[in-house]
Amino acid sequence: MKRKALVTSLLLGLGLTGLQAHAADTELNLYTARHYQTDEALYNNFTKQTGIKINRIEAKEDELLERIKNEGANSPADVFITVDASRLAKADEAGVFAPVKSKVLEQRIPAHLRTDTWFSFSTRARVIVYNKETIKPEQVATYESLAAPALKGKVCTRTGSHPYNLSLGAALIKHNGAEATEKWARGVVENFARAPKGGDTDQIKAVAAGECGVAIANSYYVARLMNSDKPADKEVVSKFGVVWPNQSSWGTHINVSGGGMLKHAPHKEAAVKFLEYLASDEAQAYFANGNNEWPVVPSVKVKNPALQTLGEFKADTLPIGDLAKTVAEAQRIYDRAGYR
Ligand code: FE
Repeated sequence: MKRKALVTSLLLGLGLTGLQAHAADTELNLYTARHYQTDEALYNNFTKQTGIKINRIEAKEDELLERIKNEGANSPADVFITVDASRLAKADEAGVFAPVKSKVLEQRIPAHLRTDTWFSFSTRARVIVYNKETIKPEQVATYESLAAPALKGKVCTRTGSHPYNLSLGAALIKHNGAEATEKWARGVVENFARAPKGGDTDQIKAVAAGECGVAIANSYYVARLMNSDKPADKEVVSKFGVVWPNQSSWGTHINVSGGGMLKHAPHKEAAVKFLEYLASDEAQAYFANGNNEWPVVPSVKVKNPALQTLGEFKADTLPIGDLAKTVAEAQRIYDRAGYR
């Protein structure tokens, strides 16, 4: 391309971007790692209420962050939604988010579930699942108990490097200290029934099959099995019990789905409107229930049979931003302890 043509097309490009930015109120580019059945209603209702059309890019969590980083200042992304505090922290550390000041978000979302740059929109608990024939719930009442010598050869988990386990490790560091957490991680490794493999559902199924006595899993995997009509899933559900860990100490470890506005968002007004919409009663119910999670807005309740059966519990109230910042330390501790 000749230099003059290049300059012209660059200017044209800038002009178009400028136009799009000016027409900020008509569309929103959403990069999301969440995709559930109720999403259509969730997004359509936003469009109905605001007239803002949502262009959705869906991909895996880590791919989306890479994409945002690679696109840099030219990224069309306005809002990034992902799961797990450690992933949100990673995005935040990469500097992709812009600070958001919103009275609505401050009023609706409890302080420990938001930061200056990103916000939680649903919560999940990391629960303990045990085989009802071989383990008594009193034996596994806490995360700490998973390192007890009595559970030798009984513990199943996915890899230690998975964000869910890193976030749990970060919570343990915050509550018990780094030294105790390293000792704990070594104890858990000592207690492995098998080398870590598969996802949380695989661990639950291994508990049901008796291959392991106890496992840790996110609550929505448990709820998904409980809400399933499949005979095989019903069989699995009949074999395991669920413990809300640490009810007499700091409460069950909570993780989140969440997101924030991006630094280079071309439609910043629409982005804030969308984040505020996600905190509305209606959106909260769709967003949480879509993945068998709990809304972050305390007054919003979801109608979910499994969550109703699981009932109420004491949740850890550690600020999610502090937890997220401790994930790197959890990784170093797990590495030293051989929890891979
Ligand atoms: Fe998951």
